[in-house]
Amino acid sequence: MSTTAGQWEVIVVGAGAAGAAAAAHLARAGRRVLVVDRAASFPRAKACGGGMAASVQALFPFDLSPVVEAVIERVRFTWDLGDPVVAELPGAAPFWIVQRANLDAFLVQQASLAGARFLPGCPVQGLQRRDGCWRLQLAPGASEQPEGGWLETRAVVIADGSGSRLAASVGLGPSRPRFATTMSVELEGEVIDPATAHFGFGLVPKGFCWAFPRRGGMSIGLGSFIGRPADPATARSEADAVLARLLPSLGFAPDAGQRTVNRLRVWDGHHPLHGEGVVVAGDAASLCDPFLAEGLRPALLSGCRAATAIDLWLAGEAHALAGYSEGMRRDWGESMAWGRRIASVFYRVPGVGYQLGIKRPTAPQRIAQILSGEMGYGDIAQRVIRRLLFQRG
Ligand SMILES: Cc1cc2nc3c(=O)[nH]c(=O)nc-3n(C[C@H](O)[C@H](O)[C@H](O)COP(=O)(O)OP(=O)(O)OC[C@H]3O[C@@H](n4cnc5c(N)ncnc54)[C@H](O)[C@@H]3O)c2cc1C
Repeated sequence: MSTTAGQWEVIVVGAGAAGAAAAAHLARAGRRVLVVDRAASFPRAKACGGGMAASVQALFPFDLSPVVEAVIERVRFTWDLGDPVVAELPGAAPFWIVQRANLDAFLVQQASLAGARFLPGCPVQGLQRRDGCWRLQLAPGASEQPEGGWLETRAVVIADGSGSRLAASVGLGPSRPRFATTMSVELEGEVIDPATAHFGFGLVPKGFCWAFPRRGGMSIGLGSFIGRPADPATARSEADAVLARLLPSLGFAPDAGQRTVNRLRVWDGHHPLHGEGVVVAGDAASLCDPFLAEGLRPALLSGCRAATAIDLWLAGEAHALAGYSEGMRRDWGESMAWGRRIASVFYRVPGVGYQLGIKRPTAPQRIAQILSGEMGYGDIAQRVIRRLLFQRG
């Protein structure tokens, strides 16, 4: 590979939602950007329901509609597959379903069109600061190897997802991240109601399951959010038992679909997200909502904000990266701190939570407003927690 010292102003590690969003913005700002991803080619498979608030469109100067596969008009909540609550989403807060592989590839394409270079098949295995620059080492099997064995850059965006090792290696994010255990299932076939998203409580211990329609099928997810994560074999057999009941209720065979167990890094406290010439974004920064597993919006938000901060820092604004950490804490972390408290009470007494929380007439609209960013958990948390602790309607 013909990379020379000083060639790159920014290297983005990971071309998921966070990294690809950052790369697209940095390239449009005229920065010399390299994006590396360990996946051998894009689009690559990605376990994700792909549900996100349409409000993320405001983060981008280009139209995201080419990758939107479904527009959700209503949400249906159930307790143990019964006791349903159906709510129409308010027109101002629509919810989109994307296929993650396509969203990420689309953002990478936007970055490339704006001048970024993309290298798939290149896992980064180490990061070092030397003489005011960052040096990145690629794994031995990488599809390309730089001259001298290292890639050099002035700034780095770490966006290598839930399994990140790089963030902690440079002292960013929690040193001992907290994980939710998830299973994702991709179903192919006709969808009974393609404008409804399902959220099922009472089936998954300490969590819930969701079923999102997309083009030609559905994405199903199961997540457990509190307590020690189960080992993969136990998680799989517990999830298979849930799916055997859930899938027939959606019109699919009990054993249908490709299934994968994943660990999802969730928000667990405020941490600095920047160092000298480096920021961390998305799951690598532990931004995912610990109550509802919403990780796409914070990944896109942090990727876009990381790009703005790096651009300013490269232009000489010394405090720009600290501003990134402060802004993410103020506009995302404060709400997640309440989300974590709600999760720890709700998932201990989910039956009470369903009756006193989800079944309230205003609850579905509040959830839609939280998922769209119109409200934060802080706006509702104290009332919800009081209701759950004292079990009052
Ligand atoms: C089953 C499931 C369902 C979900 N459903 C939803 C949902 O419906 N809505 C929602 O908002 N959130 C959902 N989430 C959460 C959401 O998927 C994540 O929060 C989101 O993917 C975070 O994006 P990211 O860019 O930070 O990480 P990722 O999308 O994981 O991207 C990280 C990238 O880094 C690359 N990489 C990793 N290590 C290296 C390395 N060493 N060198 C180079 N590249 C590397 C990977 O190949 C990958 O492409 C779900 C999660 C799971 C597990």
